[in-house]
Amino acid sequence: MTKGLVEIAEITKIDSYPTWVQEVVRACDDSRQRVVRHELYQQIKDNTVSEAAMRRFLMCVWPVIWEFPQYMAMSLCHVKQGLAGHEEARSYLVKNIKVENTHAVLWTHWAEAHGISPDQLQRGMRSAAGEALSHWCGHICQTEALVVAMAATNYAIEGATGDWSCYICSSTTYENRFPVDVRHRAMKWLNAHAHYDDLHPWQALSIIAQVLGPSPKSDEIQAVQQAIEKSYAYMCLTQDECLAADDVTSAAKLERAAALN
Ligand code: FE
Repeated sequence: MTKGLVEIAEITKIDSYPTWVQEVVRACDDSRQRVVRHELYQQIKDNTVSEAAMRRFLMCVWPVIWEFPQYMAMSLCHVKQGLAGHEEARSYLVKNIKVENTHAVLWTHWAEAHGISPDQLQRGMRSAAGEALSHWCGHICQTEALVVAMAATNYAIEGATGDWSCYICSSTTYENRFPVDVRHRAMKWLNAHAHYDDLHPWQALSIIAQVLGPSPKSDEIQAVQQAIEKSYAYMCLTQDECLAADDVTSAAKLERAAALN
């Protein structure tokens, strides 16, 4: 069954998309803002973040970074010949699997600048919230429809990540914490994701619109919206936990100090 042709004049302009896509993006905006304006990113941008929280963040997000090409490979298995938008999805996924593979290497350089070795990234302790984010991505890309998987990962996670990377890089305070000789290497992952014209999430959104057409069934729209909302929620949980562990540590320290007095 054909879903009808969708023409998107400018993929970075939300007004160019079918009404249902605009409504989904609008409905998810509060959740997205909770991710991208999170206290953790404010602290990183201002360089007031504790080294412990920074290391927890780099450790917790690593599984998603490393596995991202694999999520896309799982989505690729759901591409079908002859369906609207599926050829575009195939080209997008094949091309960007290589890009995300390179990004994983850049994350190891960022982690190294905070004293975390590749071996620690692989084997170190991480929170259940961090594991949950990667489990969610793996689960949805393996079991759900192509558009739902791409909405959760290539649109929601990549899109919000672009926004918070831009936010951190909007000031030089954080990058200036690194000695000049390691600064470029330390900042390369953030700079790669902080390009204001990063098209990947928009391309994913346009593919979702092309696959589902101008007037999908309400349960198809709902599945896309819920996947986006849930990715933002898992991102928020991971970020919350990275900071909350600081509070637990300070509370425990205060308790120990009180017991000594
Ligand atoms: Fe990336």
